[in-house]
Amino acid sequence: MNDVIIIGAGPAGLSAALWCDELGLDTIVLEQKQHTGGQLHTIYGAVENYPGLRANNGNEFFERFSERVSDAEFDLWTNVDIESVDLKAKRVRLRSGEELQSISIIIATGVRRRQLGIPGENEFVGHGIIESASRDRNDFAGRDVCIIGGGDAAAENALLLAEVCPTVTLVHRGKTLRARPTFVQQLQGQHCITVFSESVVSRILGNHEVEAVEILRKEALKPFQMAVQGVVIRIGVEPNTEIFREQLPLDNRGYAVVNSQQETGVVNVFAIGDVSNPLAPTISSAAGAGATAAKVIASRLGGR
Ligand SMILES: Cc1cc2nc3c(=O)[nH]c(=O)nc-3n(C[C@H](O)[C@H](O)[C@H](O)COP(=O)(O)OP(=O)(O)OC[C@H]3O[C@@H](n4cnc5c(N)ncnc54)[C@H](O)[C@@H]3O)c2cc1C
Repeated sequence: MNDVIIIGAGPAGLSAALWCDELGLDTIVLEQKQHTGGQLHTIYGAVENYPGLRANNGNEFFERFSERVSDAEFDLWTNVDIESVDLKAKRVRLRSGEELQSISIIIATGVRRRQLGIPGENEFVGHGIIESASRDRNDFAGRDVCIIGGGDAAAENALLLAEVCPTVTLVHRGKTLRARPTFVQQLQGQHCITVFSESVVSRILGNHEVEAVEILRKEALKPFQMAVQGVVIRIGVEPNTEIFREQLPLDNRGYAVVNSQQETGVVNVFAIGDVSNPLAPTISSAAGAGATAAKVIASRLGGR
């Protein structure tokens, strides 16, 4: 029996684990991936907004952020495949056969990129689907590219690729872009960027590499094909809450609902970081929420 089981070892889970450790709680952290750090490993640009710690990219940030983790005394299990969680009973069953039991559970499973669910989206990963413009743009210099999405991430990728690509076509569903005004202004100032509003990409086409996208515009009856050699997909994120469905109060987008102490509607079950839909989904919010949950749990277990 542990005091706390933490599910997910991104910034939120790691922060909670360090705090639980410091507060003398017997803690186990379960991470599905081989490595901890969560989304930090997908940040290819500089991280400059975490107090006291500047890094050229997420990996570098993670090295420093997680320095203390190896000295701490909590158990960290990576490559874990959770079969089921009984939140009421605080019991976690792993596919490998182990069953873990605790007094409290902290859910820190974060978010993942939303998928389009269209043909070609998975087939061309590594063959024209661009993971990140900041990381890959030199590989796509001189090629025509399509960006799917209308928010900040889509606009940022479009602007980065416009520096090296002859044409950049941004396709999004909405009437107007959701990206911040400065990005929209910059997009409008770039001659090589075309924006198709109220439009969707219905297929990504090619042989071994991406060769075209099929676009359907609102007023058009038929889709048309446009030749491109690279595609960036940035249509937002969704929370990793599937394994808790039917047990955990979720909002209409599937995020865990929490109060100011990071408590969910289930007694002694907490949710922290991006999975709890914070107003600012950032590393600092995730770290702060981890501290809050740990402190609340410790105070309940005898004022530690
Ligand atoms: C491109 C990009 C740039 C960003 N730039 C900044 C920035 O400059 N500054 C900033 O403050 N923030 C930035 N962020 C946001 C920041 O990375 C996130 O807010 C932060 O990582 C959230 O931490 P988290 O621990 O809540 O979730 P995550 O980082 O998503 O971690 C969740 C962890 O849970 C694990 N997990 C999920 N499901 C399970 C399961 N069933 N079992 C076990 N483990 C599971 C995942 O594998 C992952 O390791 C950026 C994000 C992106 C994508």
